[in-house]
Amino acid sequence: MSRETLYGWGRTAPSVAEVVTPHNEEDIMAQFNSSPGVIARGLGRSYGDAAQLSGGVVLDNRELGSIGEIDALGVVTVGAGVSIDELLATSIPRGWFVPVTPGTRQVSLGGAVAADVHGKNHHVDGSLATHVLALRLVTPSGAFTVSPTSDPDLFWATVGGMGLTGVVTSVTLRMLAIETDQVLVDTQRFANLDGVMAAMAGGDDAFRYSVAWVDCMTRGTHMGRAILTRADHARARDVAAVSLRAPRSPTLVVPFSAPSGLLNSLSVRAFNELWFRSAPRHEEREPTSLTSFFHPLDGVRDWNRLYGRRGFVQYQFCVPESAGDTVVEAVTRLSNSGVPSFLAVLKRFGPSNPGHLSFPMPGWTLALDLPVGPTKLPGVLDDLDELVLGAAGRVYFAKDARLSPQKARAMYPRLDAFLAVKRRVDPKSQLTSDLARRLQLDGK
Ligand SMILES: Cc1cc2nc3c(=O)[nH]c(=O)nc-3n(C[C@H](O)[C@H](O)[C@H](O)COP(=O)(O)OP(=O)(O)OC[C@H]3O[C@@H](n4cnc5c(N)ncnc54)[C@H](O)[C@@H]3O)c2cc1C
Repeated sequence: MSRETLYGWGRTAPSVAEVVTPHNEEDIMAQFNSSPGVIARGLGRSYGDAAQLSGGVVLDNRELGSIGEIDALGVVTVGAGVSIDELLATSIPRGWFVPVTPGTRQVSLGGAVAADVHGKNHHVDGSLATHVLALRLVTPSGAFTVSPTSDPDLFWATVGGMGLTGVVTSVTLRMLAIETDQVLVDTQRFANLDGVMAAMAGGDDAFRYSVAWVDCMTRGTHMGRAILTRADHARARDVAAVSLRAPRSPTLVVPFSAPSGLLNSLSVRAFNELWFRSAPRHEEREPTSLTSFFHPLDGVRDWNRLYGRRGFVQYQFCVPESAGDTVVEAVTRLSNSGVPSFLAVLKRFGPSNPGHLSFPMPGWTLALDLPVGPTKLPGVLDDLDELVLGAAGRVYFAKDARLSPQKARAMYPRLDAFLAVKRRVDPKSQLTSDLARRLQLDGK
């Protein structure tokens, strides 16, 4: 056990906890028997305060690291501390890819399940939970193997439940068969947001993966200019030479925090301009490595330090299909506010799943990276919350560092049903986190 200061990826809300590294389920149970407050932590890639607990016990699950055999149908059981990076290192050479990946492969399977992560393929494949066949879960009431059929309530409360129903120790999931380590990418530049949204609504269904990078710092007719990339896995017949290589480790590292204020309106505008100009105007079926397409940011280790000591906030919301105008209004407000924002990520979501606190809903999602510093920022985000709520949308807990409990409750109408399941397995509300305390998600 060691006393440590823990941060989320945005480095905005540190807190001090006792960090314990369990090696097995008994070690986790021992913590429930002795500590009033416990939360699991994966690789700390949630942006806010979800994987920390001020004054409590944080279970660092990296030792839960086994990777089982992948069977002929792609089914594999993986320890919750295994990262997507480690899983891919084993699975790609055998012809299997993860069915869903977030924008970084440096997340643990436990963390990915707890946030019910989505990727660029939600409109086709749903979120991670769709591909999970069973979980092993340790709760204060005992350890269970939970599947969507054995205990649907507990399963659906746990996926997306941000670690508040128990500690996941292993995940059984079905992988996706691939013939190569390449995707064929179509790239298109759009002069404004309306153009790219129309293209996505009309054409995304023809591709497994789709994502648009949106410039939120341009105004007028170029408001929300964007680069749309859409892709499918390359078949063996699509490439000159078939390869199935594991992803490479990052070669670049940001060794220390940059001075706060380095990322201001001027530098962010210049970066966005460069990014936009460097993308091809129109390109089709360009063979691209899995790593470059899915995890471009993983090429630089600790890139979050570029935001300086004050850190940054990621604001990600989703709204229903019919509320596309809310996305336009959000980008308009942001570009008018002058608050610097890196290229935002716009995706379309397909149907949601029964997860009580799962984030995706059919429609649109926009994720914004915003350096902390501008005095206007908190007010701008409070306004965006109202806008999102007005459209029956919600903010993603895995990215959040600042929402209020009232708004969280309004955005997640199944919170009471979630709390009822949580009480069943955690009657003394021992499972809690800084996020859960702030948003009253722990039933206390
Ligand atoms: C660059 C970047 C890109 C991202 N892109 C996406 C994206 O495209 N889509 C998306 O959905 N998310 C995305 N994310 C967010 C990320 O996928 C989630 O925050 C994920 O939960 C992080 O996993 P982790 O292992 O780092 O978990 P942590 O951040 O350590 O923890 C996250 C939550 O999971 C819980 N948890 C962790 N391990 C366990 C366990 N074993 N049992 C129970 N609960 C557990 C924690 O208590 C906490 O509530 C991105 C993050 C980054 C930094």
